[in-house]
Order: sequence, then C-alpha cells, then structure tokens
Amino acid sequence: MVRQSARKVAQAMAAAVESKTPVARAVGASGASVKTKAKIETTKTKVSKRKTTPSEPELNGEDVENISPAEDKKPAPKKRKTTKKTAEGTLLATRTAVASLKREMHIGAHVSSAGGVQNSIENATHIGANAFALFLKSQRKWTSPPLADEAKTQFHAMLKQHSYDARKHILPHGSYLVNLAQADEAKATQAYDNFLDDLQRCEALGITLYNFHPGSTGGATMKEACGRIAAQLNRAHKATETVVTLLENMCGSGNVVGSRFEELRDIIALVDDKARVGVCIDTCHAFAAGYDLRTPAAFTKTMAEFDSVVGMKYLRAFHLNDSKAPFGSHRDLHANIGTGCLGLRAFHSIMNHEPLQGLPMVLETPIDEKGPDGKTVENKQIWADEIKLLESLVGMDADSAEFKEKEKELNAKGASERQKIQEQVDKKAEKDAKKGTKGKAKGRKSKKDEESCDSCGESD
Ligand SMILES: [Zn+2]
Ligand SMILES: [Zn+2]
Repeated sequence: MVRQSARKVAQAMAAAVESKTPVARAVGASGASVKTKAKIETTKTKVSKRKTTPSEPELNGEDVENISPAEDKKPAPKKRKTTKKTAEGTLLATRTAVASLKREMHIGAHVSSAGGVQNSIENATHIGANAFALFLKSQRKWTSPPLADEAKTQFHAMLKQHSYDARKHILPHGSYLVNLAQADEAKATQAYDNFLDDLQRCEALGITLYNFHPGSTGGATMKEACGRIAAQLNRAHKATETVVTLLENMCGSGNVVGSRFEELRDIIALVDDKARVGVCIDTCHAFAAGYDLRTPAAFTKTMAEFDSVVGMKYLRAFHLNDSKAPFGSHRDLHANIGTGCLGLRAFHSIMNHEPLQGLPMVLETPIDEKGPDGKTVENKQIWADEIKLLESLVGMDADSAEFKEKEKELNAKGASERQKIQEQVDKKAEKDAKKGTKGKAKGRKSKKDEESCDSCGESD
C-alpha cells in the first residue's frame, strides 16, 4: 500500500528545517470573515476552559470544527492570528533527522487540532514529532460540519512544508462515541456514519492509517460483536478506497472488545480486504490487559504471541504509554515514559526492535501540570522531552551507566503515583473478594466499559 521508501522520507526529514514564521504566514493568509471571527472568539474561550480539565492529552475536538467556512474567502490575517495564538505554542524541540538515528523510528504524540486539522502539523513540529495523532473532528459529538476545503488545502500545504508523509506517519484517532459492535439498528447506523465520515476525511487529507477502539459487546457474545465489527469494516472499506483501519488493543475485560489478541484476530479473519485492516498496539493497554513488556524476555514473548495469534504484518502503529496501574490490572492509566509500572526497559526494547522501524509511534502520556495559580495547564515540553528520550534509547546499551541512571531516575519519579494506584487496586480486589462474584460481575462491567472506551488519556 505504501509506496514511498522509508529512506526517502528520512532524507526529506533530515532536510526539513523547522521554522515558526512561515507557518504563521501560511495560516495568516487564509480567509476569515466577520462570521468566522465570532467563531474564533468561541474557540478561544473553549481552549482556555479546556486547560482546566486534566484528562485527555489533546484539546477538545470541538475546536477542530472551527475551520473557517469554505465560502469565506476574504483575507483577514489579524483574526486568524488570534486563533493561532490560542491554539499553538512555541517551538519546544527541533525534529530529529530520522536518518541520523541507528534505527528508523518515527516518534511523536497525539497533538491538538484545535482551530482546524491543519494546525496539528504545526503543533507536531513544535514538540519535535516525526509522527503524530490527531482527532479529525470532535471525538465526543455525533455531528460535525464537513471538512472545509480551505482546511484541506492548508493541511496539504503544511504537510509539504514540514515533510510529513501522511501515508505513513499520521495516525488519526477515532471518536470515543463510535461502537461498531452496536447491535441496535439505529445506533449502529449512527456509529457507521460517523466512522465512514472519518475515513472519508482521511482520504481527503491523504492519510492512510486510521486508529479506533474496536467497541463493546453491549452484553452480546464476543463472537457476535467481532462479527458486527468486521461487517461494518467491510462496508466502510467498500465505501472508501485507500484508508487502512487499525484496531487498537484495549486494557479492559468484561464487555470491551480487543483486550485479547485473539479478539483482534477474530475480527481480522472476517474482514474481506486484509490490506485495509491492521492493529495499533497501545503499550499501557497491553500491559494492563496482561501482556508483559517489562523485560527483554517478556517483550520478545509478547511480540511472538502477537505474531502467532494475529501476525506481525498487521502491526502498523504504536501508542507509547507507560502504565500507572500494575500488570494485568485492567486499568487504563497512562503514565509518563519510564515512570510507570512498565519502566524504561520496556521502551528500550521497543526502540531497538527492528521490525518496528517506520511505524508511527505516538505518545498519549499525561502533560497536565498545576500552574503557580493552582490551575491545571498543559506542558507540551513533557512530550518534546519524551520524544528525545525515546530517540536516545535507539542503539543505547541497556547495561550502560547512562541507561541505568536514567531508568533509576524515572522510576523514582513515578514511585508515589504507582504506590497510590497499587493501593487502589489492592483495595478493590479486597472489596470484590468480600462481595463475592455476583455483585462483582454486575457492578464492574459497566464501569470497565466506560473506562476502557473513554480513557485514552487517563480519564479514570
Ligand atoms: Zn488508554
Ligand atoms: Zn485509543
């Protein structure tokens, strides 16, 4: 499917010099009428409000829709700058030339697309990302305005300017509302329409990979749910041409589909066009679901299991997250790299595993911090630093003092948080044991459903 050679992309990236000025100019040149101005003001309020919510790593997708309508063509650079200023940050790290790394690893984060999808590109360059994820529209609303022509044009121009290969290193994330396993006819149609709309947006933007949560059984059998998901995928594949749909592995149990590799395999088995389906592994979800990655031996075993159950050829992307919650806890709590229960050694294994070269690797780690006024603010420097940290692991000797020191430092940094979550998990297990199996099964299932489908950014 993907034709451009990895080497070429690497070379192009090596040549790419990041600069803020031309980006600002390109966006400033776009049109915005009086009508749009009102929208921009709204965006501004929403963005600043959003900063107080410490859950998702990305801005509310609602802001994605504030793309100036296609009919507004008159230039008003001043107004657009307002949007930019609100949605963007400053250059926090320059992108590493991928060709300069010992292995071709494309690392980035799930960035904001507030103000329009085109802004995600600049947001990615600001943190030195060589791959990135975004929401194509609001991830929590059923209806969204169509993709504006202007946003599409700007997206393509920015791609070119910043040398990102949309066919390989951009990984949009699907809506949290969509459940392709939905049995109810009306709800299934609503889910399918939203899903298809996202795939069509991918194709309009030249994006090949699209990642989504498989869904929830809603009480039906896993077999039925997998069948429904595959049927919806078959329909969506027929209605589009190139986009490859990637099932994300989940951490949950109960009604959530996709926490076992076997479930991903069963969906793929029923997909007609195998070239249009794949998997995105979230390291936190895998670990919480009971797939160990902590030691090189555990990593090798999990990869071998994935290969034998699903097949390595289907592995197309990674979400790189450490886990605040312990192994097999089925809790989705993303931690910063090296500070969680996975630890830095797990990420060293990933960074040095040859078959993973060229895949988009996306951080969804927490970046919310308390400001001096006590309010929560996003600190994107955390992502910029984590990208550089992960890149530094490529080719690093894991027995070296340099690695051991870093590993120890990060482990200590996350100690109190890990302990806090461990206590919660222990307490819950104790409570469940006391309550007996009856109440446990009933009470926990719906909660877990919610947790797993809605918390790719630790909204627990
Ligand atoms: Zn998650
Ligand atoms: Zn996700």
